[in-house]
Amino acid sequence: MPETNLGTTKDSANWRRRTKAVRAGTRRSEFGETSEAIFLTSGYAYPNAEEAEARFKGKADGFIYSRFSNPTVGMFEERIAELEGAERAMATATGMAAVNASLLCQVKTGDHVVASRALFGSCRYIIEEILPRFGVGITLVDGTDLDQWRDAVRPETVCAFLETPSNPMLEIIDLQQVADIVHSVQAKVIVDNAFATPALQRPVETGADIVVYSATKHIDGQGRCLGGAVLATNDFIEDTLKPFLRHTGPALSPFNAWVLLKGLETLDLRVEQHCRNAEDVAGFLLRQDKIERVLYPGFGSHPQHDLAMAQMDAGGGLVTFDLGGGKAAAFRFLNALKIVDISNNLGDTKSLITHPATTTHQRLDEAERSHLGINAGTVRLSVGLEDAEDIKEDLSQALKAA
Ligand SMILES: *Cc1c(COP(=O)(O)O)cnc(C)c1O
Repeated sequence: MPETNLGTTKDSANWRRRTKAVRAGTRRSEFGETSEAIFLTSGYAYPNAEEAEARFKGKADGFIYSRFSNPTVGMFEERIAELEGAERAMATATGMAAVNASLLCQVKTGDHVVASRALFGSCRYIIEEILPRFGVGITLVDGTDLDQWRDAVRPETVCAFLETPSNPMLEIIDLQQVADIVHSVQAKVIVDNAFATPALQRPVETGADIVVYSATKHIDGQGRCLGGAVLATNDFIEDTLKPFLRHTGPALSPFNAWVLLKGLETLDLRVEQHCRNAEDVAGFLLRQDKIERVLYPGFGSHPQHDLAMAQMDAGGGLVTFDLGGGKAAAFRFLNALKIVDISNNLGDTKSLITHPATTTHQRLDEAERSHLGINAGTVRLSVGLEDAEDIKEDLSQALKAA
């Protein structure tokens, strides 16, 4: 069904990334607006009954209903697909709706899914709790151990799911090597690219079949609205994903799509500055006595630094570190911060910090948390766009309280 194919504006395929970020997917209405319009409409009127019939049959272009497609949502989908270098994208109301759809649209009873165990909490819930209810076998692996991936894949494996850098320990998984292993059994690789964003890492270039985003994070980048996207080949979207999304209905609001569309225009610039600030802050943290471990993929001290630099353009905007003194010290530190906010969100202009063991990863038992490297003193900092000097001064005064 062609109604989400808005058609590219001019010859966008030849544009460089920043031009795509600003202009790809733009469709002007009859009014010639320079900023993309928000089409807050749930339905569309047909010029006649024959046209309605033709659109429902897929024989005519045009919109039908905003649960299926919408012009503003379509502009966002086309722009993010072009930035990623993917054939197509479909937007969803949240990142979790994108993750859920990417899995559930393609699995059935008897199938098998492999996933890395270091995942965003809700992604793990879908894989560990929901898929098995429908008779889907699952295997969790340590994502950095390629032998575990090799042992896990089997003929019934339909897809593999992973996140790199992972949340919250910023583990880096070799995208190309895992893709080669997963493709050896004709299964598909799904990469949750929320932490790296399309500004730093484009997994389709290293073998990923499907890329999912929480657009809530850096793509909005200003903490305003939820959104997600699934990127894949045209065939996968047409045959497998689109029917699932149309009939289950996790559609993105046109208003939120517009916010996210405008977010893409400045994504590269914002992410570049997030990375610069994060590097500065991580360097400061490394010099602090009260901090036992600093994980930042951009630093040589990170266990997979070389791999990170090979598959990402920079180290990213997140830094994870351990305070000596466990939960009590971590809580004293968080409570003493005056600029950095305590929040589980990330990728915001505002610096945000969270204590994963008691929030995002609370559901896991202690043994699993410690297997992942999350201990009672671990905190995850999403470095914002404030002046790095102010962030460091705030961390410094809070460390005294810890
Ligand atoms: C936030 C996040 C999600 C979920 O996205 P929502 O927009 O909050 O639904 C999924 N994966 C990762 C890695 C995330 O950081």
